[in-house]
Amino acid sequence: MNVMRRESRYPMVAVDDALRIINLHVVPLDVEELDVLRDAADGRVLAEDVFSEENLPDVPKAAVDGYALCSADGVTPRRVIAEITAGAMAGLHIDRGAAVRIMTGAPLPSGADAVVMVEQAEERDGLLFVLHAPGAGDNIHTTGQDVAAGQLILARGTSLGVAEIGLLATAGRRRVRVFRRPVVAVLATGDEVFEPDGPIFAGGVRDSNRYALMAAAREAGCVAVSLGIARDDMAVQRAAILDAAGRADVLLTSGGVSMGTRDLVKPLLEELGTIHFGRIAFKPGKPTTFATIARRTATHGLPLLVFGLPGFPVSSLVSFEVFVRPALRRLQGDAHPDRPRVRVTLRDPIHPAPDRPEYQRAIVSWEEGRLVARSTGRQGSSRLLSLLGANGLLLVPPGTQSYAAGAELEALLTGPLR
Ligand code: AMP
Ligand code: MG
Repeated sequence: MNVMRRESRYPMVAVDDALRIINLHVVPLDVEELDVLRDAADGRVLAEDVFSEENLPDVPKAAVDGYALCSADGVTPRRVIAEITAGAMAGLHIDRGAAVRIMTGAPLPSGADAVVMVEQAEERDGLLFVLHAPGAGDNIHTTGQDVAAGQLILARGTSLGVAEIGLLATAGRRRVRVFRRPVVAVLATGDEVFEPDGPIFAGGVRDSNRYALMAAAREAGCVAVSLGIARDDMAVQRAAILDAAGRADVLLTSGGVSMGTRDLVKPLLEELGTIHFGRIAFKPGKPTTFATIARRTATHGLPLLVFGLPGFPVSSLVSFEVFVRPALRRLQGDAHPDRPRVRVTLRDPIHPAPDRPEYQRAIVSWEEGRLVARSTGRQGSSRLLSLLGANGLLLVPPGTQSYAAGAELEALLTGPLR
């Protein structure tokens, strides 16, 4: 029979130290080529700087429907000599006294230096009358106005979204180099933990952590792999960890990192690798553990990164958000891996934890010219409802003094404003 220890053997590290230690072990993964036109590119991170090879537009064009003409002719009526539609070849020339009907996006004829909007002109019997004297350059989309040849349009480390994909297509860049998506294996542990859709005995809990953590890993741009639920048994959990070492970049475990006699994750990580920290001065999620397991397999030269997350659902997800997510974004080469930090005004009073900084779930919105945070209610570690709708984590420093409504605190913005 094991004996319960009263004191953890692991020194308590501060949040910032934990983040620093993790970063020491995170290097961007290898690079692969992506076909932007064929493959889903959204969320991928660029591994190269992308320059435009061309001016956009490549020739001067009409920015409106109207008439291309010479501004030097002032308000004198002009002869309308032709019509140019979008898609017509460039090459037409006009001289003083002439004008051409021109459509938005059509190439400007040489000799013309302005376009007058159709609403500002009148065409009668082959002659064009303008209401006002045009200025040189009016309504012309000049060569390179949107993008200049040689210009950096997307920098390495940029996450591809709507605008970025549009830009790549505009610039005619079909193939780009991106960082590989990390493969994140997720393992639940616990004799009391069951598949959500199966039979369960009294006192058992349904495995919410594995499904929530896999969703969180996918949201962070990773490929999530389920390793199922491991019983609280050394051999079973050892086999699962080695399985992860064979096929994943990162392993997330849930449960089994506390002080109980059946908390086996830490001893196993000691046996198979190196624990870099085993406790964080942090609430919720004090026993969160970070380890690496060295390996040399055909597919993986880098160590497996292991995050031992606590079993309580809120603790595991908040620890993921604070410690794991930035690491997953760094692995993908994201130049901005961290959530934005903002100052918020409290709508509800907040009670800090006496001994550790606490990351309390909050709903952040923009009200009357400032960011306001509402609590999501009771902050218990098992109360998943405290995460529902939360788009912020309030950074509550430790202490015994409550913060009144109206006080200001910092928060991590974990989702869009509500
Ligand atoms: P542990 O850290 O292993 O002692 O787990 C602490 C508590 O977290 C357990 O008593 C369960 O109630 C809960 N728990 C552990 N694993 C899971 C899981 N995969 N899904 C939901 N709750 C869990
Ligand atoms: Mg357990």
